[in-house]
Parts: sequence; C-alpha cells; structure tokens
Amino acid sequence: MEDEEGPEYGKPDFVLLDQVTMEDFMRNLQLRFEKDRIYTYIGEVLVSVNPYQELPLYGPEAIARYQGRELYERPPHLYAVANAAYRAMKRRSRDTCIVISGESGAGKTEASKHIMQYIAAVTNPSQRAEVERVKDVLLKSTCVLEAFGNARTNRNYNSSRFGKYMDINFDFKGDPVGGHIHSYLLEKSRVLKQHVGERNFHAFYQLLKGSEEGLLHKLHLERNPAVYNFTRQGAGLNMTASDSDERSYRAVIEAMKVIGFSSEEVESVHRILAAILHLGNIEFVETEENGLQKGDLVVAEKVLVDHVAELTATPRDLVSRSLLARTVASGGRELIEKGHTVAEASYARDACAKAVYQRLFEWVVDRINSVMEPRGRDPRRDGKDTVIGVLDIYGFEVFPVNSFEQFCINYCNEKLQQLFIQLILKQEQEEYEREGITWQTVEYFNNATIVDLVERPHRGILAVLDEACSTAGTITDRIFLQTLDTHHRHHPHYSSRQLCPTDKTMEFGRDFRIKHYAGDVTYSVEGFIDKNRDFLFQDFKRLLYNSTDSTLRAMWPDGQQNITEVTKRPLTAGTLFKNSMVALVENLACKEPFYVRCIKPNEDKVAGRLDEDHCRHQVAYLGLLENVRVRRAGFASRQPYPRFLLRYKMTCEYTWPNHLLGSDKAAVNALLEQHGLQGDVAFGHSKLFIRSPRTLVMLEQSRARLI
Ligand code: ADP
Ligand code: MG
Repeated sequence: MEDEEGPEYGKPDFVLLDQVTMEDFMRNLQLRFEKDRIYTYIGEVLVSVNPYQELPLYGPEAIARYQGRELYERPPHLYAVANAAYRAMKRRSRDTCIVISGESGAGKTEASKHIMQYIAAVTNPSQRAEVERVKDVLLKSTCVLEAFGNARTNRNYNSSRFGKYMDINFDFKGDPVGGHIHSYLLEKSRVLKQHVGERNFHAFYQLLKGSEEGLLHKLHLERNPAVYNFTRQGAGLNMTASDSDERSYRAVIEAMKVIGFSSEEVESVHRILAAILHLGNIEFVETEENGLQKGDLVVAEKVLVDHVAELTATPRDLVSRSLLARTVASGGRELIEKGHTVAEASYARDACAKAVYQRLFEWVVDRINSVMEPRGRDPRRDGKDTVIGVLDIYGFEVFPVNSFEQFCINYCNEKLQQLFIQLILKQEQEEYEREGITWQTVEYFNNATIVDLVERPHRGILAVLDEACSTAGTITDRIFLQTLDTHHRHHPHYSSRQLCPTDKTMEFGRDFRIKHYAGDVTYSVEGFIDKNRDFLFQDFKRLLYNSTDSTLRAMWPDGQQNITEVTKRPLTAGTLFKNSMVALVENLACKEPFYVRCIKPNEDKVAGRLDEDHCRHQVAYLGLLENVRVRRAGFASRQPYPRFLLRYKMTCEYTWPNHLLGSDKAAVNALLEQHGLQGDVAFGHSKLFIRSPRTLVMLEQSRARLI
C-alpha cells in the first residue's frame, strides 16, 4: 500500500482495535484527530470528524489518488467512499446511496459537497455539453439551496435548516445526465423567530446587504436588517454567515442564472422576500375611527399594506381584508366575513409569512429539479439510468426544551438507524453468501418498537396527534398528552410525569419522554397541535393565487379552491413528514448503501480540539460501537487476498518479497500457517475472512516489529 501509514497514526479501521470499548474507540479517534487524520473506517462505513480548519486533503490531486482505487488501498477518505459508490454503480449497474448523518455542525453538508466534487471531477472525460450542463447545475444548486435553506445558528454558522436527498442519474457511460432533489421539513418557524445569536435564512440578509441601491428602493427596503422584525432578533446584527452576505448574494444570483432561472423569476424571488419582510412589520390595532365599530382592527402602518400588495401583485384592499378578517361558510352556502382579534390577526400574519417562505423554498427546489430532469432519454436506446443518492439530513437533536420539530427529527433518525442496522446486517450476509462462507446470526438492538410507538396507525403518537388536530379547536395539548398516557402507559419506551410521578425532570401535564435508541428525550407538548395542524386561512391562499405575478401564483395552486369547496382537510405536518420518511426509507432500502458518520469535535467550532465527553456521546448515539461489534461478530475483518499479502507479506519468509505459491490464496494460507493462525479464518472465493480481532492484532504486531 503506497500510502500506508505507521502505527503512530492509530488504526485506520476501528475494526482493528484490540478491544471494542468506548475507551479504545475514543483513544483511536483522538490519536488520529491529533494527527489530522479526520477519517477512519468501520469496515466500509466512514467516520469523519470535523477539523474546523482547511486541511490539504481535497482538490484535483487528492481526487486523482483515489480515482479507480479500492476502498482500502488508500488512507480513509470521503473520496474513497464516493469512488466506491460510483464504481458499484458503474461496474455492477447498482443504484447506490451515500447516507451522511451526524449532529448539526458535524460536517455533513461539507461532506456532501466533497462527494459531489469528486463525482463531477471523475466523470464526462469526453466533455459532452449536456453532461457538463447537468454537472454545472448539480454543483451550483448547493449554493442556491443554502441561500434559502441555511441560516446562522449557534451550533453552525451555515446550518442547513432542511433535510436534503439528492439523486444523480448516470447513463451507461457513467456520466451524470440528470438529478433530482427532495427536501424535508424546512424549519420555517425561523422566518418569524430566531434565538439569541442566530439569524433568519441567509437569503434575507443577502438581499439587504448585497443588492444594489436601485433594487432596494424598488422593493421599498432599507439596507439595515435592524429595521425588520424578522431579521432584527437574535441579538448581534453585525453577525454574518460564515461568508459575507454581499459576496454570497452575487454568487447566488450568478448560480441562479447558470441553473436557468429567468431574470423575471429572480425579480419575483426578490419581491417575495421583500414582501415577507414588510409583512413582518405589520401590526394591528383596534379602532373606533372612520365609522368602524369598536373592536374592529386596522393595520397600524398602512403603507406596509401598500408595499405587500405591490410586491405580491395583488389588490390592496384584498391584502388588507385577508389580514383583518377571514371568510367563513355559515350554514349552507352563505359566506360571511368574520373579523380577527389582534391575536388572531397576528397569528394569521405569521402563518402567512411562514407559508409564503416555505412555498418559495419549495418552488426553488422544483425549479432546480425541472432543469435537472434527465432530458430526452429513451431507456430502450440509452439503457437504464443508474442512480447515486446522497442524503444529508439532520441528526439526532436534544435541546433543553424539545418540541414538535425535534420530535420529527428524532423520529427520522430512528427510521434511518433502523435501516442502517438492517442494511449493514443484510450486506454482511450477502457478502458471506457471495464468498461461500457460512453465516451466523448476529444479535443487535432493534429499535422497531420505538418507530412503532411513533408511527403505528390509530394509537401511535402521530395518529393520536392527528386525531387531536381534527377535533375542531376543543382538544388542548394537555388533553393530547393525557391520551398518549392512556395508550402508552405500558410502553417500555414511553413515559411522562403522570406515569412516573417521582421523576421531577418532567413537568406534569406538559412533558412526555421517549427512550430513543440514542438516549432519552423529553418533549414538551406545547404547540404540538398547532404545529401539526399548520393552518393557513384560505383567504391568503386565494389572495396569492390571484396574484398577477405568474411565479408567485404558481406557488399557490390550492388557492384556486373556494371556501365552500375546502371540505377535505389538508394532511397534517406530522403525517406529511411521516409519509416522506416512509418513502425515503423505501427508496434507500433498495439501493446499495454507503455510510458517512460525522462527528463534531467540540461545541466552540475551534480547530484541533476534540472534547471527549462531547464525542463519546455522539459515538454512542450513532451506534458506532455496535457497528464495530456487528462487523466483528461474524468476522472481524475481510480482505481480498492481494491486499492482505501487500500488508503482511513481510512477516513471512514464503511471501517476502514475493511468493511462488501459485495463487494468492495459497500464499495467504502459508503465511497464516507460519503464524499458527489458520484456525481462526475462513477462505472465501476472493477474500480472506478473519474471525477474531486477536488474529488481526497479532498480525499487526508482527508487522509493526518489522517497520
Ligand atoms: P452540518 O451540515 O453537519 O451541520 P457543515 O457541513 O455545515 O455541518 O459544517 C459546519 C462547518 O464546519 C463548515 O461551515 C466548515 O466551516 C466546517 N467544516 C466541516 N467539514 C469540514 C472539512 N472537511 N474541512 C474543513 N472544515 C469543515
Ligand atoms: Mg448541513
């Protein structure tokens, strides 16, 4: 192995550890991290630690070193994983996927970018124009999605506030000919509210800071984000993203052009962002003037309504009416207008701002998809496309107070963990069969019961929540909690204060707790019903559907319906999320998976420091120790014969420097016999399977004595 590194760099694969304890695992992780070895394998799974500094690991030269190599031929690297996925796809026509997981700031999105860069670099040697176009769009889409879907948070200055799954389609030559992006659960509450030290989505600041004076004027905006409710919270207004907003603004506009957004579309996007900012500054007051009745509402600063109407290309009086009242069907067909209270109007305004932003985001994703759709391809002529999927999705989350969003995110992680266990075991089994080796079943913790607690029909938490949401207005979060308690009183992974009166870490009537595979999380039910119902008055939908701005109008097809026709309830946020998770898992399950498990070394985003406690927790909940154990339970290690010889041939007189034994398999046998280790292995067709890690350790030791 040309790039082989000595023992001072620790083990390049955790499977090679003498013992699988947390201590040994952490020691190896630490040792490698100190030497800037941020990547380590567990078999074919890549563990990655965010270095928080630019390391000379990437770029064309590094890519060339990994191109076309086997996974273990070079030191562990993302490029090796990207290459393995690419080769499996190309050689065996297998759909593959790369699942990247880890907590916020662990380096998932950066990893996905390196993977894309690798794929872009090694494909299309003949420079076909259409393929170049697709690659351009794939690479540029990241920049645009980050503008609209990322924000500065305390944990990551460029935090993705949505989950992303991207499929890349390849033709039989192995060149990208199209792609598709799915986004999951955008954190739209951020439009309204940001924690201290955090920001709204980058797009707002980019527009304010980066656009020219003339445009700003047309949008009736001031440059200072402190002017707007939606961008002025979160304390420090001089805080930026990790990149400057001005620079990013230009990059995003450029990227949108390359992708194929028309200038009219870009203008619409600007107007929509501006409208949201103005909407956020609208306040309501009760009035008696102008012949209005006491208790009637008006907008405090009327010019804001003018701005919103102008920017959304909708009639001013309709904007005003939608803000101040709702249309309800009374009795039969008769429609009446019912005035809002201040609280109702503020609630409706916020719901509208969130929804407009969400639709904008989804439209951007759809728009990118429309230009990436594989064009003019005929399966009979061109052969079937093969796909590599890349999943970059939020990791397990625990905050001091956890709400509906954390509940969804953690449920998502349960699903993915379940898949991970199944696939890793399935893969092992398939490999044993392929190599003609007898398979032994491995015991592991199956989290199916937790997934079931959440998604089971009728009684599962999501079903109970939906039930609460469909009962108009009368069910409170507290009653929802009581129903959960009745249904799950005996569930081993569910508890609440009601069920455990002595447990003071939960609040009575507010909290429930799930024992996740990754640890216990206490959820506060406050807001669950509201967030799940995710309600927006039809008046707003209709208003926006009637916009003369065709881009905006296209985002609101459901505004077409009349209030009397709106009988069917839209699916709840929880059910939509569940459906998308089920579809995601089904999709991943039929692909050959590769895993990247990202670890965040410390909470302060500083280079070169690995906080043990912090990392130990992540290692635990990513299930990395189990992963090593599963990998070792059957056979600790498997290596193609040539690779095994390359590494250990110096430890045996028959194999050093070269063997004359006819086959590599025979040479490996001779080597093992000399060490007295032949009893602990099985000989597959092309690979050696080593049962106990002890054997590996002994081989490693005799090797270490010689180098
Ligand atoms: P996540 O998507 O997991 O929340 P990101 O991929 O956005 O995390 O990474 C957070 C930050 O950490 C990045 O903005 C970058 O500054 C740094 N970072 C992550 N991965 C690397 C890497 N491989 N090399 C250098 N810096 C990195
Ligand atoms: Mg991210």
